[in-house]
Amino acid sequence: MTTRPSGACVAVRPLAQLTTLRVGGPAEVWEVDDVTAARDATSEPFLALGAGSNLLVSDAGVDQRVVKLGRGFDDVRTFGSDTDVWLGAATPLPGLVRRARDAGLSGLEAVLGIPAVLGGAIAMNAGTRHGEISDVLQEVELLVDGSVERLPASALDLQYRRAHLPSGALLLRARLTLTPSTPERVAAAMAPVDAARAGQPKATSAGCAFKNPEGDSAGRLIDAAGLKGLRVGDAMVSHEHANFIVNLGQATAADVDALLAEVQRRVSVPLEVEWRRWGY
Ligand SMILES: Cc1cc2nc3c(=O)[nH]c(=O)nc-3n(C[C@H](O)[C@H](O)[C@H](O)COP(=O)(O)OP(=O)(O)OC[C@H]3O[C@@H](n4cnc5c(N)ncnc54)[C@H](O)[C@@H]3O)c2cc1C
Repeated sequence: MTTRPSGACVAVRPLAQLTTLRVGGPAEVWEVDDVTAARDATSEPFLALGAGSNLLVSDAGVDQRVVKLGRGFDDVRTFGSDTDVWLGAATPLPGLVRRARDAGLSGLEAVLGIPAVLGGAIAMNAGTRHGEISDVLQEVELLVDGSVERLPASALDLQYRRAHLPSGALLLRARLTLTPSTPERVAAAMAPVDAARAGQPKATSAGCAFKNPEGDSAGRLIDAAGLKGLRVGDAMVSHEHANFIVNLGQATAADVDALLAEVQRRVSVPLEVEWRRWGY
């Protein structure tokens, strides 16, 4: 690893180590803890990496540098009881959701159990049928072409599992507005979200592989096609939830990719992959 004068730490790493699906080849990973280092890292074309929980990275890796926000952008420790709060984009969502509940603040219940960091959750407009991160997002701070800019959430045109960030933007921070409640009420509102999660696989995955088609569920369609347990190498359609592809241990990105294509081929309704694909 080398440390640049700006403070950015640079190392070539297999992205399999930085993604929840545990597949993906090497990339030059730039970890940055402040805006100066982030400006240096984004001075050339880059890909922004959050918690890596919605990514399929090719076995060959990626040519662009990969920029990951470090602890300097993780504010979960400083999150108090403010209802209107700026938080760093590397703040892990699970810790934030827990702390909001403990502080008696409502608004994040729907994103319980999503293993993202805040930047990745905004970039994907992460959510469940109970709500999305866009429900509480007011404003974002972005680094674009070396300049720090603020945009209202409305400028991101947040839709089902997507946001429209300006090209080449790195999300640095976001302002959320939560609603005063009590820890008990927030916990009660989380219960159905938690119950829905209970049936999901605990095995290595990147969450739901396909977007739900209008008015239907990708999991239901894949299950109805009899594809649970379908396997390519160590990549398998989960027996517990048909929209999860799990890595049984030694899966490669090529295995996962071939399995995605086979599922799409065998399901009668067109299914769109929800994951971001890097290196294809
Ligand atoms: C077990 C499991 C359960 C899941 N459940 C859900 C669920 O219920 N609902 C749901 O919506 N998702 C779910 N997911 C998918 C995933 O957690 C979400 O899509 C999440 O928003 C991805 O966030 P991340 O930080 O991991 O981003 P990454 O996967 O690292 O990146 C995703 C995208 O965000 C971009 N990005 C990340 N950080 C930044 C930044 N700072 N600036 C600009 N762009 C950035 C990346 O470039 C990429 O395009 C699940 C995943 C797993 C593994």
